[in-house]
Amino acid sequence: MESVNSLIRKNIRDLKPYSSARDEFEGDDAVFLDANENPYFRPLNRYPDPRQRHLKKVISDMMQLPADNIFAGNGSDEAIDLLLRAFCEPGTDNVVAPDPSYGMYEVAAAINGVEYRKAELDDDFSLNTEALREVADDNTRIIFLCSPNNPTGNSFRRSEVLGVLDWFSGILVIDEAYIDFTGTQAFIGDVLTIPNMVVLRTLSKAWGRAGIRLGMAFAGREIIDVLNKIKPPYNVNSLTIDEAVRTLQDHMLKDQVVAEIVDTRSMLSERLKSLPFVKKVYPSDANFILVKVDDAGDLYSYLVSRNIIVRNRSSATGCSNCVRITIGSRAETDILLDALGRYERSHDKHS
Ligand SMILES: *Cc1c(COP(=O)(O)O)cnc(C)c1O
Repeated sequence: MESVNSLIRKNIRDLKPYSSARDEFEGDDAVFLDANENPYFRPLNRYPDPRQRHLKKVISDMMQLPADNIFAGNGSDEAIDLLLRAFCEPGTDNVVAPDPSYGMYEVAAAINGVEYRKAELDDDFSLNTEALREVADDNTRIIFLCSPNNPTGNSFRRSEVLGVLDWFSGILVIDEAYIDFTGTQAFIGDVLTIPNMVVLRTLSKAWGRAGIRLGMAFAGREIIDVLNKIKPPYNVNSLTIDEAVRTLQDHMLKDQVVAEIVDTRSMLSERLKSLPFVKKVYPSDANFILVKVDDAGDLYSYLVSRNIIVRNRSSATGCSNCVRITIGSRAETDILLDALGRYERSHDKHS
């Protein structure tokens, strides 16, 4: 297999990174006159630690992975962007992902001038590895697999994901944004033995901290080193670091909330199946459900008129007349179910 280093764009390999004033110094009891900070207004007068050592120690303890295998970013969206910048030559290289999948891969590729290629999923949304293989070529640098997949909700089979590595030696990114909502085995433990695999995690979903913007990438040293080399020095701010540390120390609370959401998901899924205008409720390993209905546009507008916002995914491949419904609180789910009942009754009258 090619080494990861040989996959890095030449300008990035040759890059001399910005060295920030605080890079060389550890400790916080010195007289800091190096960064043109304001001496007043402590503690937020200081730039955050560009290496995020404290945060990474907490993540490392929780994930049982060395800090050197962790990248922390301004949301996973930052990691996605940096991976494209590190490994893909604009105008030449391409990336591949199943279709439909998370919309940011395509947008981030387009921003970076990198061709985005879609490989269709099977009818039941399981991974079609033949399609992936057909779409990929010698210039494919990254394959993004989101599992559980957004917006379809299903997880890909472990053997099929690992099978990709038999013929692909670029960077395989597994986006585990929704992994806490499923019992399926995660890939995070594999990054120490598979040098070209990256696993993405986020505090935005199960941890309930979308507002602070913290994403993580886990991978072998070579990949983490290049992400650190090209990231903006202060990409994770002090408020986010502090709140992330607090959040990660209460995983019991996270587990409780996840259990509640998973419960609500099965209740909602059963109730949806009993509604006549619902054609199909796709099984979900995530905190949302994809639902095929008679007329997604009509249902969407009705719900908006009642101040309930879902996502109309009708334009996604294989998702005609599908809406994606996020699992809310019990109270929000009751409001939704009440509105769906009313929609059904008004439907009845008109047909
Ligand atoms: C929500 C989501 C994320 C999270 O992105 P952040 O930038 O960390 O908020 C990542 N991947 C997928 C597939 C998602 O749906």
